[in-house]
Amino acid sequence: MKALQYRSIGSAPEIVEIDTPEPGPGQIRLKVTAAGVCHSDEYIMSLPEDQYIYGLPLTLGHEGAGTVDMIGEGVKHIEEGQSMAIYGPWGCGLCYECSSGRENYCRNAAKYGIAPPGLGAPGAMAEYIIVDSARHLVPLGDLDPVQNVSLTDAGLTPYHAIKGSLEKLPSGSTAVVIGVGGLGHVAIQILRSLTAATVVALDIDPAKLDLATSVGAQYAFPSEHGTVDIIKDLTRGLGVDAVFDFVTNQATLDMGQAMVRSQGDQVLVGVGSGTLKVGLTATASWETSIRAPYWGSRTELFEVLDLARDEGLNVHTEVFSLEDAPAAYEKLKSNQLVGRAVVVP
Ligand code: NAD
Ligand code: ZN
Repeated sequence: MKALQYRSIGSAPEIVEIDTPEPGPGQIRLKVTAAGVCHSDEYIMSLPEDQYIYGLPLTLGHEGAGTVDMIGEGVKHIEEGQSMAIYGPWGCGLCYECSSGRENYCRNAAKYGIAPPGLGAPGAMAEYIIVDSARHLVPLGDLDPVQNVSLTDAGLTPYHAIKGSLEKLPSGSTAVVIGVGGLGHVAIQILRSLTAATVVALDIDPAKLDLATSVGAQYAFPSEHGTVDIIKDLTRGLGVDAVFDFVTNQATLDMGQAMVRSQGDQVLVGVGSGTLKVGLTATASWETSIRAPYWGSRTELFEVLDLARDEGLNVHTEVFSLEDAPAAYEKLKSNQLVGRAVVVP
């Protein structure tokens, strides 16, 4: 089968021909219907050799969907042909966190070497993918896989991040989304669906600001020097209740810290390399909370897909064939994508 692999440190991912995998006991093979291109892929491919922990060659793709194609020995209650989304942050399934659906915070994953598809295990940028357990599959039902595959990360991650701040976002509140990319443009829609907050979007690219207002942000401003003053004016000098930072470089961290009000949340989702100074003398506002959430729980993926069904979350997608997937990564790297790139093998 064809697969998109990252094969050597610092090189671009390439299409290769590899053996089609067979499902072992307990495993399921999906025929991939769609795979999303995430900035985290770009991040891991930017790491130097001494920090790269995902194995080589690595078949990319941690946002995946497919139809059940072959069922391993012992797997029950699943039928060939079913359309599935893959829950990516695989855990052991047995610890307290996994038992609560929070496999993203599995206590044993590191110890047992369990890694998500596309971030250690072979990912979904291929014609077929092996999923280690039926537990990692969530039925898509009649949701279109191409339109919705990115909800497994670009939906789930902001959903989890926003759920942690819901009590701070009653009517009259303000939420800021920094970085209106794959995750950020879905975050805006989730905020509009789940909260009564006024949503303000910030980005460095005018095309992303247009996307922000088209998906529901009430305000969209360039992310630059002076933005904090604009937002302070908008909130009668108070600052905002929650900042969701999908960039986390030094500029956005400093900006977020300067605009969050007393007892507000600063939620760091991006994997940028900025750092924050915290403490009574370092912060402008009293008792702010800082969280750095990772992905989301299995139950939350069910909730996100239900939200898509009921409220129509709209992932702005640009579709690429598997052969053209390297071009999707090029576009992501040069910040030319608006929304999410989705690869259809
Ligand atoms: P993306 O490339 O689609 O979007 C990034 C957006 O940020 C772009 O619109 C870009 O114009 C904008 N941007 C860049 N610099 C900016 C600045 N200074 N101010 C405002 N906007 C700026 O990326 P994505 O796939 O949406 O991922 C966003 C981040 O989230 C990445 O760092 C990714 O690695 C990370 N991520 C984290 C998790 C997690 O579990 N915490 C999960 C998935 C992705
Ligand atoms: Zn991701």
